[in-house]
Amino acid sequence: MGRLLTRNNLLQRAHEVHGDKYDYTNTVYINNRHKIDVCCPIHGVFTQLANIHLQGKGCPKCAKEQNYKPIYGVGINDYRGIIRHKGVFIKSYAVWASMLSRCYDKNYLRKEPAYIGCGVCEEWKYYSNFKKWFDDNYIDRYVLDKDVLKPGNKVYSPENCAFIPVEINRAYERRKRNIIKKCPTGVVCNGKTFKAYITINSQKYDIGTFQTAQEAFDKYKFYKEEYIKSLAEKYKGKISKEVYRAMYRYKVT
Ligand SMILES: [Zn+2]
Repeated sequence: MGRLLTRNNLLQRAHEVHGDKYDYTNTVYINNRHKIDVCCPIHGVFTQLANIHLQGKGCPKCAKEQNYKPIYGVGINDYRGIIRHKGVFIKSYAVWASMLSRCYDKNYLRKEPAYIGCGVCEEWKYYSNFKKWFDDNYIDRYVLDKDVLKPGNKVYSPENCAFIPVEINRAYERRKRNIIKKCPTGVVCNGKTFKAYITINSQKYDIGTFQTAQEAFDKYKFYKEEYIKSLAEKYKGKISKEVYRAMYRYKVT
């Protein structure tokens, strides 16, 4: 069909639909089924069918940005590159999304209440910022950690985080059972006796049986701190100097 409009008609109708947003200085107009060049003040020139433009469609790049849905209500994927390869997210994106999920996904927090109260710093709520840090710091097969450099830390940020081997990550894991029970960490209360134990790679080792919870805890504390130091030695040169030093400072509290 192609209803005829004069150039002035086009500009007037475009103005009614899009306001002052676009620049039509270089727009050549023939009819409304003809493709026109429109200039977006942010992204530059794009080409669109005149009638589609007059129906309200605008710059495709602007539309894409408006469609960025925050992930878990907070994360913004502002990166323009490809994040999926053959249907699988690239590593940095997968790590970023999983960090957001640990802090802000209600279903995850129901399963892992230890993460309640954790958050991601403002900078890392934007994927492009996280990706830069990731590309500079990632070590193959290591995991993102927020506890080794700063014990008890609850905020994922460039200052607080490091990539560490899974074995070290496990050694820093808090046992859920002891958070609930009133026994000190590393101690099992059996009526009158107190058993100290240490968990290494998911395997429980007996340290001994003691008369008081304090004695049992002190022994556990000693072994745990020694274990962390031995791990620091095991991975020396394969972990950052900051992580190595932090492991030597590690104290059970
Ligand atoms: Zn635009």
